[in-house]
Amino acid sequence: MHVIYGGTFDPIHHGHLRLALEISDRLGVDQVSLVPCHIPPHRGDTGATSEQRLKLLELAVTGEVQLRVDERELRRAGASYTADTLRQLRQELGPEAPLAMVVGTDAFAGFDRWREWRQIPELAHVIVVRRPGPGLDPDGEPARMLAERAVRDASRLHDQPGGLMLELDPPLLDISATGIRERIGDGRSPRYLLPDPVWQEIRRLGLYGACPDGNF
Ligand code: ATP
Repeated sequence: MHVIYGGTFDPIHHGHLRLALEISDRLGVDQVSLVPCHIPPHRGDTGATSEQRLKLLELAVTGEVQLRVDERELRRAGASYTADTLRQLRQELGPEAPLAMVVGTDAFAGFDRWREWRQIPELAHVIVVRRPGPGLDPDGEPARMLAERAVRDASRLHDQPGGLMLELDPPLLDISATGIRERIGDGRSPRYLLPDPVWQEIRRLGLYGACPDGNF
């Protein structure tokens, strides 16, 4: 099964990386593809450019065989829409290959505002990872879609190309990219929240207000 995990990754951190490995283990897949989005349609400007975020991702997965980076959204002009990415992958993998995308409940809560959101489960399985926070509106469209398509057993996803939804509740690290950017901006160290080579590169490039010749 081909599994993609998309995000802004501004910057990539241990919360993302740990979750990607958990998914790979729980679904019994060899690799999970991290897909940085180019121009996030639902967000403001990112703190680092697409190329810089990509560089940080590549440093983060170096030497980790269970993770890879898929740059396709950065190579496409314009906004990154998940439906376009899944359609492209579906064409490459063929109609029968199981394909799944990972999304946190925070992002899934606004799923009905994503472009072509009703088409997305026709193209792939959706793995919804429970994150702390308000959760889904039980009367909302995303919760309804999840209830209609939900399976309990992760192995079911291997049996068909798409169409199913799986809720997972893996242990999560309480780390956010926003918190890391704020910390760096305030002159505090973000070490141990993200891989050291990523932090070194952030400093080298002076991203998020980092001082290249600071103390840490
Ligand atoms: P920001 O703070 O800038 O919103 P973020 O840390 O939430 O960033 P994103 O790039 O927006 O990271 O997230 C990409 C995906 O990773 C989303 O589906 C989000 O739910 C999930 N995610 C973010 N942080 C964590 C974490 N600590 N553990 C597990 N999943 C996470």
